[in-house]
Amino acid sequence: MQRTLFEPDHEAFRETMRAFVDRSLRPKLERHTREHGIDRDCWLEAGRAELLGLEVPAEYGGAGITDYRFNAVFNEELAKFGAAYASCFGIHSDVVAPYLVDLGTDEQRKRWLPGMCRGEVVTAIAMTEPSGGSDLANLRTHATPDGSDWILNGAKTFITNGGSADLVVVAARTGPGEGARGVSLFLVESGLPGFERGRILDKVGQPESDTAELFFNDLRLPSDALLGEVGRGFVALMQRLPQERIGVAIGNIANAVDVFTETLAYVRQREAFGQPIGSFQYNKFLLAEMYTKLEVTQAFVDACVAAHTRRELTADEAAMAKWWAAEVQNEVLDHCVQLHGGYGYMNEYRVARAWKDARVNKIWAGSNEIMKELIGRELGF
Ligand SMILES: Cc1cc2nc3c(=O)[nH]c(=O)nc-3n(C[C@H](O)[C@H](O)[C@H](O)COP(=O)(O)OP(=O)(O)OC[C@H]3O[C@@H](n4cnc5c(N)ncnc54)[C@H](O)[C@@H]3O)c2cc1C
Repeated sequence: MQRTLFEPDHEAFRETMRAFVDRSLRPKLERHTREHGIDRDCWLEAGRAELLGLEVPAEYGGAGITDYRFNAVFNEELAKFGAAYASCFGIHSDVVAPYLVDLGTDEQRKRWLPGMCRGEVVTAIAMTEPSGGSDLANLRTHATPDGSDWILNGAKTFITNGGSADLVVVAARTGPGEGARGVSLFLVESGLPGFERGRILDKVGQPESDTAELFFNDLRLPSDALLGEVGRGFVALMQRLPQERIGVAIGNIANAVDVFTETLAYVRQREAFGQPIGSFQYNKFLLAEMYTKLEVTQAFVDACVAAHTRRELTADEAAMAKWWAAEVQNEVLDHCVQLHGGYGYMNEYRVARAWKDARVNKIWAGSNEIMKELIGRELGF
């Protein structure tokens, strides 16, 4: 179906994104894969192309755009190229930047946002801990008051951009025994004494990203490192996770549609028993099912993007989009691998890499089980 979500300005921005991908990312894909990280030049180039601060007000160096459809285009074009790019740039621009814009003081915004928009300051958000990520209200990393300072101790894991981030939004316990009400957010600079990075984690997919462990050992934070109010961190996370989740859904479906389109071309030209692979009835029906699921999913995700643009997207709608798009993407990519036969299992084929990259979409940004938990709660259970 013809998508009706975007207008000419969004499509013009899509061309800018595509040019950025082709000029600055594509030539470096193998390097990023080998080195497990996006090199700083790419961040700086993204900054120069004015891609990193779409939602950031112009006074802090951003584009000051409030139309989320531009973020969606940003996400789609990166996700088509590679899931790790959508994740790394998305966490920085689409996830961390809004925390600063919404919760930061004027000083905090002035200090961090211009550098973030230029790609000079790379950011991450650290919620998940070795002891658990789903049950965020029970996180153990803690910040203890010391005069007007805070002393931060704890460990985080699976942190996207963790290997290179200059600034990390860290969720920490400030109210012992207070559950969700005892969580606060801190802006933690990487160079401070007591900030240590662990391993760059060896993932199943998305080798281009520097997902890492972070450790905080008696790390002294000044009072102005607190982001938002004491004890309001969990609420802040819950309010902003829907944007992260719709972002994941946008990337999932864009990536799946792109790989499906590539697979269609493959099964048209690849032959067995004297006929194209796609023309066997079994495969024809499979392609029809995949196509239908992609179209239906795209329509729902687009409706969610439109709702979010109007600031009307609810947490359970974002949860639905996130888990459903992740399931459909994984199902479609698995079939696409199968339709490529042995080539589908070769890393030099994009379908193989996309299949490995996609698996995490059912786990991160709140696992699919947690998404269903949220939706179930909304239904009153
Ligand atoms: C590549 C990668 C990048 C990531 N990037 C970041 C990042 O930048 N920042 C960050 O903070 N985190 C990040 N994460 C962490 C991610 O969000 C967590 O892995 C996720 O939230 C799940 O937490 P967990 O791994 O601790 O699993 P657990 O919480 O231990 O859960 C294990 C399993 O139990 C299930 N489960 C838990 N509770 C329930 C329940 N109530 N009902 C049913 N099933 C349940 C889960 O769904 C899951 O299947 C990343 C993870 C990966 C793999």
